[in-house]
Amino acid sequence: MNIKGFLFTTVLSVLILFANGQTKYAIVIHGGAGVMSEEKMSTEQQSAYKSKLNEALELGNKMLKEGATAVDVVVKVINILEDSPLFNAGKGAVFTNDEKVELDASIMEGKTLNAGAVAGVQDIKNPINAAREVMYNSEHVFLSGKGASEFAKKQGLEIVPNKYFYTDSRYESLMQLKKQERERTQKDNTGTVGCAVLDTHGNLAAGTSTGGMTNKKYGRIGDAPIIGAGTYANNKTCAVSCTGHGEYYIRLGFARDISALMEYKNMDVKTACREEIGKLSELGGTGGVIAIDANGNIAMEFNTSGMFRAYLKSDGEKEIAIFK
Ligand code: ASP
Repeated sequence: MNIKGFLFTTVLSVLILFANGQTKYAIVIHGGAGVMSEEKMSTEQQSAYKSKLNEALELGNKMLKEGATAVDVVVKVINILEDSPLFNAGKGAVFTNDEKVELDASIMEGKTLNAGAVAGVQDIKNPINAAREVMYNSEHVFLSGKGASEFAKKQGLEIVPNKYFYTDSRYESLMQLKKQERERTQKDNTGTVGCAVLDTHGNLAAGTSTGGMTNKKYGRIGDAPIIGAGTYANNKTCAVSCTGHGEYYIRLGFARDISALMEYKNMDVKTACREEIGKLSELGGTGGVIAIDANGNIAMEFNTSGMFRAYLKSDGEKEIAIFK
C-alpha cells in the first residue's frame, strides 16, 4: 500500500470508530442529596466538596480515556469519595444508634446484568470493592454483615477497625439527633456517593456506597445496596445511582423503574428520571438520582434543595454543582 492509501485507510478507520461511538464516553457522579443552603454553606466548604468531586471526576476521565472498563471506573471513582471524610460513605459515614458505623454498597454491570452488593458491614474500608468482589468472585449477588466481611478478607480487601470511620462531625450529628428525639433516623446528613459510567467499549455500569441514615437501628438496610432500588445498570437502557430516603426508593423499585420507563415506554433518560422523582415526591420521599444512557446522555434530578453532583463527557462538556 502506498502512503496515500495508508493515510486514507487510517483516516477512514478513525472516522468509523467515531461513527460507531466507540471512543465516546461519559461519567456522572453524586455525593448525596438533601437540605442544603447556599447561605449556610461557607465558600470554603463549597470548594472543598467541589474539588473532591472534581478529583473523582478527573480520575474517571483519565481511566476512560485509557480504555478502562465502566466497572473499574465506578470502583476507583467511588474509592476517592469513600476515602474522604466529606461524604457519608467509607471514612465519613454516619453513626448508627449504638454509635457504630454500618456500611452498604452495590455495583452493577450493564452488559451482563451481573451485580454485587454488601450490607451492614463494619470493617471493610471500601465497601464498593467488596460489592465488586461479590459480583465477580462469588456465586451470589448480595452478602451481609459478618459473612460479607469474611468474604472480603478472603478476597484480600483492606479491613479496618470500626473506629477508622469515626469523624467528629458525624458523631456530633448523632448526638444532636439523640437529644431531639431518640427514635428518629435522619436523612438530612447528605453524602451517599454514587457513579454511573459509559465506557469506550459501549458498556454501562453504576455503583452506590453509603453509611445509610444517622441513628439507624435494628440492622436497618437502605436502598443503596439493593439492586433495582439504589443501583441499576442495563446496556439496553441506562445506568443509575440513587441518593435519598432509602425506604421510599426501595418501595418504588426506583432505579429499575427508570430503566423500565425507558425500555417499555421509550422515555429518554432525563424524562424517566423526572417521572420517577415525581413518584418519589408523591409518596412524600426526598432525594435524587444520577443516570447515564447508552449514548452518554446524562440526567441529574432531585427534589431536595441540593445534590452534590458532577459530570463529564468525552467531548469536554463538564459540570460540577451543589445547589438547585
Ligand atoms: N439512600 C441512603 C439510605 O437510605 C441515604 C442517602 O442517600 O442519603 O441509606
